[in-house]
Amino acid sequence: MNNSQIEELAACPVCGHAAFSLWIRTKDFSISQEDFDIVSCKKCGFKFTNPRPAESAISRYYDSSNYISHHDEKRGLMPLLYKWIREHITLKQKRKWIEQMLPHKGKLLDVGCGTGHFLLHMQKHGWEVTGIEPAAEASKKVKENGIQVYSHLEEAAPHAPFDAISMWHVLEHVHDLKGYLQKLKKLLKPDGYLFIAVPNINAYDAQLYGAHWAALDVPRHLYHFAPSHIRLLLENNKFQLQKTIGMPLDAYYISLLSSEYRSGRKKWIQAFYHGSLSNLRALKDKNYSSLVYIVNKINQ
Ligand SMILES: [Zn+2]
Repeated sequence: MNNSQIEELAACPVCGHAAFSLWIRTKDFSISQEDFDIVSCKKCGFKFTNPRPAESAISRYYDSSNYISHHDEKRGLMPLLYKWIREHITLKQKRKWIEQMLPHKGKLLDVGCGTGHFLLHMQKHGWEVTGIEPAAEASKKVKENGIQVYSHLEEAAPHAPFDAISMWHVLEHVHDLKGYLQKLKKLLKPDGYLFIAVPNINAYDAQLYGAHWAALDVPRHLYHFAPSHIRLLLENNKFQLQKTIGMPLDAYYISLLSSEYRSGRKKWIQAFYHGSLSNLRALKDKNYSSLVYIVNKINQ
């Protein structure tokens, strides 16, 4: 990579402090095999990938069929299992989380909608849906189902304001974090909710696998959030956290991928054991492998 494709942050994206220390060196196990550093802010402890590919240069790190939600036609046990879980568990669970806050339904924007399974599910249950998906191949499938989908967040403005905006594992990929949160705020109704799912760096499976923890996923994951940093980021951007929900299935999936990054092959039994350990601990301390943050805006 040449210098124009790489950028180094001079300030912590959460608190603005300018001094960091190296936290861990890891690598892109799934695509480029390149090394990346994750630094820790000396003031708030927030962990982020630094240096990182610039926004204009990141797309080459996404060109892989490993990004399963965009590639429904993949064969093998993992994609089959993934599909089964999606159809029978994940979609209903996500809808339940949203409808417990918004029982009267309304307008939903799903950011990073992939091929649109969640949008289709929500539409079937009475929601008026719009999607954001930068990958052209995936968004084509959304359009085939007659659903409006755009490449950039601001293009959804004609459909705004939204009652719910969902971002399932999206925020950790966003270069301009504060700019993005401001755009989201404009699109959200005064009494609407944001649903932000991100990996949790405090999870037990993160400690178990260290540099091989699959949810580090550098350089695609620019940030490695702990609950305290989400809270701080939201406060600094005039949002407030209403509720946090654990995603226990992620501990198994992430442990399985992590076992492969560490040993070269998927260790199903070990991953099941580690995933279960992580979830057992999380029953006490709420540090699930991934968390959903339910957020509303502070209206001035
Ligand atoms: Zn900081």
